[in-house]
Amino acid sequence: MKYSSLNYNSKKVGFLDAVIKGLAPDRGLYFPEKIPILDKNFISSIENYSNNEIAFKVIEPFIGNEIPKNILQKIIEETLSFDFPLVKITENISTLELFKGPTLAFKDVGARFMARCLSYGNKIKKHNKITVLVATSGDTGGAVADGFYKVKGIDVIILFPKGKVSKLQELQLTTLNENITAIEIDGTFDQCQDMVKSAFIDPELIDKIKLTSANSINIARWLSQMFYYFIAFKNRPNPTKKLVISVPCGNFGNICAGIISNKMGLPINHFIASTNSNDAVLNYLNSGNYIPKKSIQTISNAMDVGDPSNFIRIQKIFNNDLLKLKKTLSSYSYSDKQTESAIKEIFSYNNYIADPHGAIGFLGIKDYFISQEDPSSLQGIFLETAHPIKFANIVERIINTKIESPSQIKGIRNLKSNKLTMVGYNELKSFLLAKN
Ligand SMILES: *Cc1c(COP(=O)(O)O)cnc(C)c1O
Repeated sequence: MKYSSLNYNSKKVGFLDAVIKGLAPDRGLYFPEKIPILDKNFISSIENYSNNEIAFKVIEPFIGNEIPKNILQKIIEETLSFDFPLVKITENISTLELFKGPTLAFKDVGARFMARCLSYGNKIKKHNKITVLVATSGDTGGAVADGFYKVKGIDVIILFPKGKVSKLQELQLTTLNENITAIEIDGTFDQCQDMVKSAFIDPELIDKIKLTSANSINIARWLSQMFYYFIAFKNRPNPTKKLVISVPCGNFGNICAGIISNKMGLPINHFIASTNSNDAVLNYLNSGNYIPKKSIQTISNAMDVGDPSNFIRIQKIFNNDLLKLKKTLSSYSYSDKQTESAIKEIFSYNNYIADPHGAIGFLGIKDYFISQEDPSSLQGIFLETAHPIKFANIVERIINTKIESPSQIKGIRNLKSNKLTMVGYNELKSFLLAKN
């Protein structure tokens, strides 16, 4: 499998090169030259396969022979080393819990998979050191820090916006140390992301340092998210009903992986991009004009993205045909107030505690069902992308109930927290040059 840049001005590369580079030299996102089609028998007998076997079948065509079979199997085994339970919320709506990993966010899968592929690629290609530079609006940082923690030959630098990530998220970024450096930026997530982008196009830096990104623009992070959709399909509660999946969206990497799964032959009837007030994609679906916006701060902070980087990949899947895209994808946007009521409503069903991101996913399914003539022929699954404890101060207030701490974070408040503070790009640049 080869990957070409969506700016169409760079050479095609194989899987490992695309993982190491992150972005193509022309600053475009890598995209597979074709989308493989899976064997129909595999899909119809998917219940007989383990999650690891499914993941191998799904990702292997995207990697070809660049990673030997036994190593890829081991990478998958280490990546999917926790559960992905499907929990029924109402008669027709269930949630797939993707937060059972070490940092309690769905990004653990992508980060763990990418760290292992990058580490393998680095060894094969005999580079000395790779610096992973990443901006986070909340959850990416923790998942990436954990996924790369103590991985040899890889330094991780994480930029996060001051005061805009939750307390627990900040602890997850700042308490690992070793090869992980957390930098607090006095600004927004978009400003953090701009600093990362500036570094990637700074000739002086890229001449001296091997830089890569661990945002969902990296194909290893992006594509491994396909696993969720196959697991959701395998465990769907009612095989006679059509499956609709609602994804809480920020940078649109996760949902884009879902749509790729669908193109590979996975029978998902419709996708819902559920967003907070950051609604650039909803506006595009309504108007046909894509207008990037400044990000708006909300209580679902991991989705505060005004100009989602992966949307261009979704457009590519549909060859920029808006009508075709709309057959597969709908979008809904919700305010913080609506999100809070949804958390309350979901809690009224068997005391299920949703986090603000999952709650938005739930609202998306409900509104989509209302828009349909025969919703009883459908079953909905929304992805629960973070553990509610990550947003305890918000959620506990709404449901008036204490959330139990999962084992992953016991003791984190006693660890020593370290961070650097920076204002602008020049400071970051000097730091990177001095460090390497
Ligand atoms: C990152 C994140 C999202 C958004 O995922 P994208 O792939 O960027 O669309 C949603 N929910 C949570 C909790 C996240 O951490």
